[in-house]
Amino acid sequence: MTKRIVILGGGTGGTLAANRLRRALGAECEITVVDRDDDHVYQPGLLFVPFGLAHADDLVRSRRRQLHDGVAYRDSGVLHVDVEADQVHLDDGGVLAYDVLIIATGARLVPEETDGLTGPGWMSKVFSFYDLAGATALARALRDFDGGRLVVNVVDLPIKCPVAPLEFCFLADWYFQERGIRDHVRLTYVTPLDAAFTKPFAARALAGMLQEKGIELVTEFNTGEVDGEAGKLISYDEREVEFDLAVVVPVHGGAECVERSQGLGDALGFVSADEHTLQSKVRENIFVIGDAAAIPTSKAGSVTHFEGEVLTRNVARFLAGEELDASFDGHTNCFIESGFGKALLIDFNYGTEPLPGHYPSAVGLPLLKESRLNHLGKLMFAWLYWHSLLPGRDLPGVSAAMPLAGKRLEAR
Ligand SMILES: Cc1cc2nc3c(=O)[nH]c(=O)nc-3n(C[C@H](O)[C@H](O)[C@H](O)COP(=O)(O)OP(=O)(O)OC[C@H]3O[C@@H](n4cnc5c(N)ncnc54)[C@H](O)[C@@H]3O)c2cc1C
Repeated sequence: MTKRIVILGGGTGGTLAANRLRRALGAECEITVVDRDDDHVYQPGLLFVPFGLAHADDLVRSRRRQLHDGVAYRDSGVLHVDVEADQVHLDDGGVLAYDVLIIATGARLVPEETDGLTGPGWMSKVFSFYDLAGATALARALRDFDGGRLVVNVVDLPIKCPVAPLEFCFLADWYFQERGIRDHVRLTYVTPLDAAFTKPFAARALAGMLQEKGIELVTEFNTGEVDGEAGKLISYDEREVEFDLAVVVPVHGGAECVERSQGLGDALGFVSADEHTLQSKVRENIFVIGDAAAIPTSKAGSVTHFEGEVLTRNVARFLAGEELDASFDGHTNCFIESGFGKALLIDFNYGTEPLPGHYPSAVGLPLLKESRLNHLGKLMFAWLYWHSLLPGRDLPGVSAAMPLAGKRLEAR
């Protein structure tokens, strides 16, 4: 009998999983992707919009058109999942029964969670570049900004692409230099972490770059309130950071449909899964990919891409009654744009933090080091995203397992 695979979310993970599964399983499975609109946003491009380096329209393509022939697309919101009955209830009243369910509903921005963030000043002197509307409005505000204190603040973790706020700082430094007003701008990065980044080795390198570029670093700042009128961030322990313009990365939570599904999500609305097989801890026939997963990786498109290979294999094995492949190693790979046409690259997994060296082998892109080659890699990634990653193709020389070759292990 034809097996039914339902995929919730047609973003990065849902799309590449559907296309990989279609190729692996052919017509022996009926694959349906559900999402609530037809706008697939290339989210890494949002970083460039505020600086006029990308236009919002160039980042959006039809979701439906990214799916291979033979994959069905259902344009509706997901209301909730009945995990006992193996059914998905949709906003349009429809019900989809499944043999295997893949949760790919990503992470949701929840700015309302922080007192005052969406109050007075929101979208006039307090912005987020984490969605299209925010990134576009911020581009206008930056153009009009002639000097003062610009603060970039991460309210809490986890967030998507944890390096993106740092990249924003580096690009802001470049942008104001280009405009000849850098001396009139005080740039400050405010984070709840005790360092510039989660991983100690990379954190030292990134903190050094902030210092070189004259960007202040404020650590262990847990934002409790944003006072847009007075222009200040206030922490739970009553410290204050003043601003003329604030760029805030809001609290992230899991999808509301996960929260509404009894027994599916954790306290934040993410779905617990085995970190090596990606099978959910809720039910054997539910798998998770991308930002929706509560596993100890970064919430990044690269992780989602690497997960795709193991997830596809495991859905096929599950349907065949075979043992699952427990090989996902938490592989994460991020270009960090540093301004002036340069970028760094970091590559790590559950057990190995970002190290210097080269990727993917002794000959390749420099790791943890600014270079033009990495900047070109970051720009080329957009093309690879639409033409290779989403269609579910493997990238030449790039494997899901993190390579050790090329890394200077003695630097640990
Ligand atoms: C500013 C920014 C910069 C980034 N830069 C990078 C980078 O340089 N490199 C990198 O690797 N990653 C980067 N990322 C992260 C990357 O974009 C995400 O990790 C990736 O898109 C995760 O894929 P996903 O499928 O889990 O979620 P998404 O691609 O967000 O897809 C989730 C989908 O679920 C749908 N959905 C949710 N709830 C429902 C519902 N109730 N009903 C129907 N549909 C629903 C949504 O509409 C959405 O389409 C960046 C992200 C941001 C915001």
